Amino acid sequence: MADQRTDPVYHREGQMYAHNTTLSSIAPLSSLPASTQPLFKPPPDTTKTPYILTSPSTIFHAQGGGQPSDVGTITLTSPTPDGNDPKFTVHQVRKVDASAAILHLGTFAPEEPRFTDAEVGLEVKQAVDVPTRVLHSRLHTAGHVLGLAIHLLSRAGEAGLPRDLRDGKASHYPGAAFVENIGLIPGDAKARIQDKVDELVAQDLGVAIHFWTGEEAGTKCISGLDGAAVGEGDEVRVVDIGGLGSYPCGGTHVACLKELGRVVVRGIKRQKGISKVSYEVVDA
Ligand SMILES: [Zn+2]
Repeated sequence: MADQRTDPVYHREGQMYAHNTTLSSIAPLSSLPASTQPLFKPPPDTTKTPYILTSPSTIFHAQGGGQPSDVGTITLTSPTPDGNDPKFTVHQVRKVDASAAILHLGTFAPEEPRFTDAEVGLEVKQAVDVPTRVLHSRLHTAGHVLGLAIHLLSRAGEAGLPRDLRDGKASHYPGAAFVENIGLIPGDAKARIQDKVDELVAQDLGVAIHFWTGEEAGTKCISGLDGAAVGEGDEVRVVDIGGLGSYPCGGTHVACLKELGRVVVRGIKRQKGISKVSYEVVDA
C-alpha cells in the first residue's frame, strides 16, 4: 500500500481546497508496520477505528517542515450502484518516507458506511477544512516574513542584531509559532523587528513558488538546504517572498502578504547562543 508515491498537489496548488482523485487503498492503521503506527496520534474519538487511506494525488498537506497536517473529508464523487456512500474524516496526514505514499489517517462515523476494497479505483473528492488550512498558511508565511525581517535588519547592522545571524529551526503551529536564529538578538530589538515585519506586510509582497536545481537553490536561498527541502527529482521547491528572500520549503502559503492580517512579534528568548522569536497572526 505505502509503496506507491503520492503526487503532492499542494506543492504546486497551495490554494486548492477541493480535488478529485481515486481511492488507491484503505486499511486499518493496525495493518501498518509496528514502527509506523506510533507516528500517528489516536483520533479525537478513540472509540472509532483509525484507518489509513491513500490516493495517487492529494491536496492534504502532510505534517512536516513545522506545519501541521490538514484536516478535512474524503467522499465518493458519486455513490456506488448499491448505494454505498462513505464519508472519511481526515484527522492527520503524514509522509513516512519521501519515496512512499502520503498516508491519510481518518475515521468513519459508527454504524455508517465505510470504504472497503470494493471502492478501490473509484473516484473520490478530497476537501480540506478551509479555515484550518488558511490559518496554517498564514502562520507559515508569517514565519518566513519574520525570518526575512530579522535577516534584513541583521545584514544592515540595525537594532543591535549581529551581521552574521543565521536562520535556525522554525515552527508554525497555532499557539506555538516561532523562528529561531543562531546568534543573539537583544530583547530591545523587538519593536524594530515588529516595524520591519509591518513594513513588509504593508508592501503586500507576492509569495511565489519555484522549483530550482539544488545548485540554484543553494546559491540564492537565505537559509541552507536541510531536512525541509523538498521537490520533484533533483529539483528543490522554493518559496520566494516578493523577490527579497527565498527559502527551501514544502509547506503551504498565502498568495500575497496582505492575506496575513497582522503578524505580531510576541517575544524573544535567548538560550545557548540561539534566539527564539515567537509570533502569531491576528486579523488586521
Ligand atoms: Zn514555507
